[in-house]
Amino acid sequence: MPIYEYRAIKGGCAYCKRGFDVIQKMSEKPLTACPKCGAGVRKAVSSFRACVVETPDDVTSLESQLRNYETEGKWSHAAELADKKGLNDRAMDNYKKAGYNF
Ligand SMILES: [Zn+2]
Repeated sequence: MPIYEYRAIKGGCAYCKRGFDVIQKMSEKPLTACPKCGAGVRKAVSSFRACVVETPDDVTSLESQLRNYETEGKWSHAAELADKKGLNDRAMDNYKKAGYNF
């Protein structure tokens, strides 16, 4: 399920002033008020969250998968996986270790 970040439009309490995360179904209506103080809130668009579609679980397993490849010295496997998941720096690193030259 996607995580949405909300932030107070104006004023608000300690909770919503800095922004808070809510896990909601796509079908759920967006929040319009802070659940703690009732101040008006709006969705803060986070570019990071917008382009990363994995849930935290997927990220963890991706990370451990990558680490497995890396500890086993399977650099090209790690590079391909990182590449596919958009981890460009990581992919580049592993491609280099695999002996590719860019
Ligand atoms: Zn609030």
